[in-house]
Amino acid sequence: MSSPSFLVHYQEIALKGKNRPWFLARLVRNLRQAVRDLGGTVVRSLMGRIEVVPGPGVDPDRVAERLKTTFGIANYSLAGRERLDLDAIAAAVLRDLGAREAGSFRVSAKRADKRFPLTSPQIEREVGGRIGQARGWRVDLERPELVVHVEVLTDEAFYYFGKERGPGGLPAGTAGRVVCLLSGGIDSPVAAFRAMKRGCAVTFVHFHSYPILSRASQEKARQLVDLLTRRQLRSRLYLVPFGDLQQQVVLAVPGPLRVVVYRRLMLRIAERIARARRAQALVTGEAVGQVASQTLENLAVIGNVASLPILRPLVGMDKEEIMSEARALGTYPISIVPDQDCCTLFTPRNPQTKARRATVERAEAALDIDGIVGQAVEAAAVEEFEFPDV
Ligand code: ATP
Ligand code: MG
Repeated sequence: MSSPSFLVHYQEIALKGKNRPWFLARLVRNLRQAVRDLGGTVVRSLMGRIEVVPGPGVDPDRVAERLKTTFGIANYSLAGRERLDLDAIAAAVLRDLGAREAGSFRVSAKRADKRFPLTSPQIEREVGGRIGQARGWRVDLERPELVVHVEVLTDEAFYYFGKERGPGGLPAGTAGRVVCLLSGGIDSPVAAFRAMKRGCAVTFVHFHSYPILSRASQEKARQLVDLLTRRQLRSRLYLVPFGDLQQQVVLAVPGPLRVVVYRRLMLRIAERIARARRAQALVTGEAVGQVASQTLENLAVIGNVASLPILRPLVGMDKEEIMSEARALGTYPISIVPDQDCCTLFTPRNPQTKARRATVERAEAALDIDGIVGQAVEAAAVEEFEFPDV
């Protein structure tokens, strides 16, 4: 193809009725940000699709990489461009099919501008007939090996062979902000990804017990946020020191209840950060019954301290499924690096699996909860992430 460009299709956002122009503008803006280090690459909105033209000398594969991680894209293809003339379009298709072989094929045409003299079925028949004649391939409308696409717009036509699936979802930032409690584990990064996929802008909060424990968990959190930022382009991470506060908990709360009390404190702190960031929900990587601390009873007693909704995107997933999603996402190798999780600090091996709210509240009565939460937020270190890093 001579000077090919990417033709990008969005599906779900096309259905969003009145908000459609707004969703589309956001997707275009996100795409522009995502390719801004790929010198001269241009993103433009074109009658129900988006064209992304790789800058001079930019490898199209590098552009494709960015399309793969931009939520809101249903599919994309590297397409050739031709003037609005059927003979020219058919000739360009035949030329660019090159050495490609296919047992069967079909032409799929779309006419976005009805002023073009041929209808879509006519374009399909004309172009299909010429391909059949030149290459001897069989037409199969049901299950073709190759689909040749032709899209006729106002000033030009595009053609391409096959489609690559995009990541789907909604454009980053269209659903409002959430705060994700990000441990160094396998689950919470996947939960954050799921929230992002639905258009949430995610702010991250990580609790660590440095200097009582090592710095490892903070470094993992940074690496995870760095990787996830590819999907939302800008992130903020709050690193909240949790060790001092845990020492206070130890003095007041019996061993088996500590994990639940830690979690309640985490949620309260995260919620205070969420309010400051105007976030509308909290996100965790919890799944019912996955570990002893995640019984329905405990989830209830833990969640009860928050007044914002708590989203648990992994609630219906098996650990195996979460792990394979983490692998696909690339977070898995970071998550499995050994660290020292703050939740195990000063806790016995057998935490309470069915904590009762009254018991927990009685134990917490000895703590200055408001003061502890305020101090933790004050002490948080804030780091900003951006993708691409230019
Ligand atoms: P994960 O793999 O996400 O750590 P998990 O199965 O190990 O999940 P827990 O360790 O019980 O489960 O944690 C449950 C949830 O609580 C986590 O998914 C995360 O959202 C939150 N959480 C736990 N520890 C931390 C932490 N140190 N910092 C921030 N959030 C945390
Ligand atoms: Mg964990």
